Amino acid sequence: MSVLEDVALKLFGKDVFSKLRDEKWFVAREKPDRLLAVPRRPRVANVFVVVEAQSELLIRHEGADDFTEFEVAGRSVPGILNTKMQAVWRRTMLGIQYDYYEKRGKNLVGTIKGKIADEKYIAKLSSWVCYLAPRARSAAKKEVEVIEPHCTVCPSCLIFGYAAQEEAGMYNVKSRVEGDVYYGLCTSAKCVVQRTFNAVDDVTKTTIYGGGEERTGALYRLSLIEPGTVFVGKVALRDMTLAELLLALVALARISRVGGRQTHFGRIKVYVPAIVFSGFEKGSGYEVAQQLLSKGIEKASLEEALNTVTSYARSIASSEDIVLVSRDLADKLRSLELNKLYDIVEQAWLDVLVFKKSLDMFAYSSTGKKR
Ligand SMILES: [Zn+2]
Repeated sequence: MSVLEDVALKLFGKDVFSKLRDEKWFVAREKPDRLLAVPRRPRVANVFVVVEAQSELLIRHEGADDFTEFEVAGRSVPGILNTKMQAVWRRTMLGIQYDYYEKRGKNLVGTIKGKIADEKYIAKLSSWVCYLAPRARSAAKKEVEVIEPHCTVCPSCLIFGYAAQEEAGMYNVKSRVEGDVYYGLCTSAKCVVQRTFNAVDDVTKTTIYGGGEERTGALYRLSLIEPGTVFVGKVALRDMTLAELLLALVALARISRVGGRQTHFGRIKVYVPAIVFSGFEKGSGYEVAQQLLSKGIEKASLEEALNTVTSYARSIASSEDIVLVSRDLADKLRSLELNKLYDIVEQAWLDVLVFKKSLDMFAYSSTGKKR
């Protein structure tokens, strides 16, 4: 049994892991093949995520609203958009990759040389750097070229997708992680507080601005989500190898903050109470929230949330699906030993490079462009 299989066995338990292995549930990408660009058998890990606020959260999104609100079962509840969660998820994964690269980067380049002898990838990986957000062309600054902020050859690029210009033609890669809103299991009236803050002038150390006598804009108010509020969401992870899935889950469990002004707000704890391994996407955080709120619950506890998710996950699974239910999966993911984590990153990196090479072969074989 490989190191990764051993890790998966301990994380998922013997029953679930043997079923996954027997059914060859994970994608295998041994060597580049243009057909690997097209998934042949749909595989979706439906991952249920419970997020517990451990400090006040500021979850404003673009727009005028003070916090983002949704209606579930006729009640208004706060919510966290998937764009916010996915951005910190990707950043957390990138952090893990940088740590790995610093310790074992040379190893990676050596391994690649033997397996995927592509000079361009080797050059990119020899001085690897991957930025966080793509920068659009700025008309105001008269920028002619779009800077390529995504490296296009690392696990977070090929798991979360990227938009970048490639030298030999162009294609973008779509995210294989798809999610919706994380719904608060609490009516806004019960978990949103308004706080007033002082904006003190830096020079005078008072709340008087501008030298005149009038006071201007010295106070501001924020709507904050109270600690203890629980949110539920579901993400679909598509066509993952074992290493990609493990890396995605470790990064998910290690997300520690979400929302605006993270210096002061936003501490969270992530739980992964259930995963439904299926041939297609099923279930939603919305239905879980609906089940709880339609019972008249105004503020669900963590325990109620975990129990509801668990029974819901079982209820949506068909007899062919493999259901993992676990109270401590996220804890185990957080406490994974470093050398095992590095093994996961290394294998995931190899897997995504085989994928990338396969995408190149697929994309360029039809246009006649070469790499
Ligand atoms: Zn990258």
